[in-house]
Amino acid sequence: MSQTPYFDEAAKSATFERDGQFNIIGVRAFVTSCASIADWMDDLYMLLGERFIEARLYLSARRAANRTVAALLAEFHVPDDPKSKEQFFTEFYAAIGWGQIEYQLDYTKKTGQVVVKNSFLAQGLANKFTAQGHNIATGQKSDITRCALFGAYLAAQVSNFFGEEIEMLEQQCATMGRPACVFEVSHERFSLRSPRGQDG
Ligand SMILES: [Zn+2]
Repeated sequence: MSQTPYFDEAAKSATFERDGQFNIIGVRAFVTSCASIADWMDDLYMLLGERFIEARLYLSARRAANRTVAALLAEFHVPDDPKSKEQFFTEFYAAIGWGQIEYQLDYTKKTGQVVVKNSFLAQGLANKFTAQGHNIATGQKSDITRCALFGAYLAAQVSNFFGEEIEMLEQQCATMGRPACVFEVSHERFSLRSPRGQDG
């Protein structure tokens, strides 16, 4: 892609204020390391279990993401067609460091997948701060997917593109040694009790 207007607009909007109020596109934000986020999540996974955390994170992020999608499309005056919206979200989330999104969607069947390279959630797991304060690549691998929160944002986006509520379930995660995280469109409602359509 030769032109990246949305990427540039988002990236150049960042303001660093001495009173501690970092802003991006005029919205108060903050910067933290991906390793720290992975550390917070590690504790939640350990205490509460993978399925509960995934479902809880997904559902709460999904509600927030619905508002974010509408606000961002309005703020950037994104044309109301799917390809423009795909381009916008790809560039915007690259600019704010979430990862590189590639939508592989079938608009006729309302199905498909989204591939994410460099997910901040996945890469955080493979980095740790040592007791001496160094940030080192541990290469740590996981046997579970770790990017449910990202999936919730993708679900809100793709639901907007399709004009129909869908969910996005992470099927492969970079933390499991895969080259990228892969999220699949699901038409089943995501519930806390059965996060992947299973019983119990
Ligand atoms: Zn992942």
